[in-house]
Amino acid sequence: MLEIKNLHVKLEEEDKVILRGVDLTVEAGKVHAIMGPNGSGKSTLSYVLSGRDGYEVTDGSATLLGQDILGMEPEERAAAGLFLAFQYPVEIPGVGNMTFLRSAVNAQRKARGEPEMSSTEFLKVIREKAKELEIDADMLKRPVNVGFSGGEKKRNEILQMAMLEPKMCILDETDSGLDVDAMKLVSDGVNALRDEGRGFLVITHYQRLLDHIQPDVVHIMSNGRIVKTGGPELALEVEKNGYADLKETA
Ligand code: ADP
Ligand code: MG
Ligand code: MG
Repeated sequence: MLEIKNLHVKLEEEDKVILRGVDLTVEAGKVHAIMGPNGSGKSTLSYVLSGRDGYEVTDGSATLLGQDILGMEPEERAAAGLFLAFQYPVEIPGVGNMTFLRSAVNAQRKARGEPEMSSTEFLKVIREKAKELEIDADMLKRPVNVGFSGGEKKRNEILQMAMLEPKMCILDETDSGLDVDAMKLVSDGVNALRDEGRGFLVITHYQRLLDHIQPDVVHIMSNGRIVKTGGPELALEVEKNGYADLKETA
């Protein structure tokens, strides 16, 4: 699904290298987790994959279903099936949440050569999915994320993901700022989307999210590289011993 090879990334504006040779393959149907200390480059990896400005790829490659994504515009990456749930979801004043989602869904369909979703069908689907995430009708009408609490923003990210039905989902610290109940809602939302044809990359600083979204593979990132890969037990090991030991082996 997603294949990252020897990815090196620096900041565009400064000579600061952030990713130093990331290798990672996420297979369809699998959930991979990336854990790691703050500042290790986890968010940078997700930004670079989604096509955010400000970063320069100096070496390596990233493909989604065999297609090179690094040369694509962000909207082309989305049309190809990539979705990123941000660590800090963006507020969009003046744009209603429902209007935003409907344009996103239809733009995606258009890019894939599929017919638009009718307003009746769209309303039916969004109401169903919003209900599962305990997002009320009022939140659907308000401007995207404006005045939403941290937990509401994160749930709204998962709603976007559920509506867009991406092939490859990247969740960057979707658990940060969530209380236990909200984390359960978000995890249930993610688990409902687990599918043979879909890959997940779940980025988290803490192990607790991985109690709910059980990963197939766990990677530890430190100083711009994946320094260790293992099964779910690796997350428990980190929880117990912290990242210090792993930094030393790195
Ligand atoms: P993580 O998500 O693992 O906490 P980040 O990817 O956010 O790590 O950051 C990795 C490193 O790169 C940090 O040292 C951070 O300060 C730096 N960094 C990332 N983006 C920028 C930027 N736009 N300007 C300056 N420093 C940045
Ligand atoms: Mg961070
Ligand atoms: Mg981060």
